[in-house]
Amino acid sequence: MALIVHKYGGTSMGSTERIRNVAKRVAKWARAGHHMVVVPSAMSGETNRLLGLAKELAPAKTNTAYDRELDMLASTGEQASSALLAIALQSEGMASVSYAGWQVPIKTNSAFTKARIESIDDARVRQDLAAGRVVIVTGFQGVDPDGNITTLGRGGSDTSAVAVAAAMKADECLIYTDVDGVYTTDPRVVPEARRLSTVSFEEMLEMASLGSKVLQIRSVEFAGKYKVPMRVLSSFTPWDIDIHEEAKSGTLITFEEDEKMEQAVVSGIAFNRDEAKISVVGVPDKPGIAYQILGAVASANIEVDMIIQNLSKDGKTDFSFTVHRNDFARTMDLLKEKVVPALGATEVSGDAKICKVSIVGIGMRSHVGIASKMFRSLSEEGINIQMISTSEIKTSVVIDEKYMELAVRALHKAFDLDQA
Ligand code: ADP
Ligand code: ASP
Ligand code: MG
Repeated sequence: MALIVHKYGGTSMGSTERIRNVAKRVAKWARAGHHMVVVPSAMSGETNRLLGLAKELAPAKTNTAYDRELDMLASTGEQASSALLAIALQSEGMASVSYAGWQVPIKTNSAFTKARIESIDDARVRQDLAAGRVVIVTGFQGVDPDGNITTLGRGGSDTSAVAVAAAMKADECLIYTDVDGVYTTDPRVVPEARRLSTVSFEEMLEMASLGSKVLQIRSVEFAGKYKVPMRVLSSFTPWDIDIHEEAKSGTLITFEEDEKMEQAVVSGIAFNRDEAKISVVGVPDKPGIAYQILGAVASANIEVDMIIQNLSKDGKTDFSFTVHRNDFARTMDLLKEKVVPALGATEVSGDAKICKVSIVGIGMRSHVGIASKMFRSLSEEGINIQMISTSEIKTSVVIDEKYMELAVRALHKAFDLDQA
């Protein structure tokens, strides 16, 4: 008998029919003798619907009080889907109980809309498991030290599932979704993308942080920190397929590097359109510019990703960086009002129509020329590179958003990712 955590995403929970299917699948696992904890997302579209309603009524200037209510609101999506799943399991003849995050409790800090899990008390869940119940724990949410409901950021149910698996030392955490595993790139953008039967934890971490939304990055961090065996697989296979076959399907996140050594240098391509570029132009070139610009941005709690400073000409330089698109307007205002006058810079300009495309692979550590192959392939498509950043196992470029698909397809081909 094993302790298994299943997580089902929004599409997998998207209708009563799909919830019934999930219930049948979970019941199959429970009947095979496993202790089952299930973490569902809200039904697809529900979180967007709820947040859309809030937006209609939102005050002109929002603050923490508003974010608190967003979490009260958005958390109801998972509460509803969890209760529905428990009911569906009861219809399958399985004893089942659902808990909201605060009931477990899953304790988080107070950063509304992007809270971090601090601890999970599994006593109540264990009691139910011992009594033969399937336990459903809402994804995406927790409770802060003051008893406020918090949420973990979009896509956060992955993190709930892995955190529960880590806290309970589960034998495996299975992330069921609407694709049958982790692919070389988003299969919705590149139809030739191939499923990876394994992907190293480090690669998965990079891919998630660089925009592959198949897993929320925090979930991968948890899996790495607590060595949670984790697999991404499809919820759209027939629920009654052989359980051993199902247990081996999808993509396994591995923690040993050696297995991958003989494989491709580049394992995957990630991309995202979530960033915007800001340039402070004509800055007098003297020590402390980076600190003055980025220090002000950091003080406003805005995260900066890529940074580039141009060579200075006639004593002046241009300084560019990227931030999340949600922080774009705020950063522009901050720079215009405070930083540009203080620095004596000419102007600040912004571009939200950019995207970041990245190649990822642990093989890049031991091979040279990978980045230049990337640049060549983009230049052959006539795509201009605006910014570059590299680390041991990835190279990212910022390009015009309109070339995103072209770039991803070209790189997928250049690195032979469509070849098995
Ligand atoms: P869920 O609702 O199950 O959490 P998500 O929509 O969050 O599902 O994540 C699954 C989606 O991630 C897929 O439908 C796919 O379009 C997208 N995706 C992006 N990059 C990848 C990738 N490398 N491999 C697989 N899916 C990817
Ligand atoms: N329902 C939440 C969202 O849409 C969390 C999740 O699905 O993982 O972001
Ligand atoms: Mg998701």
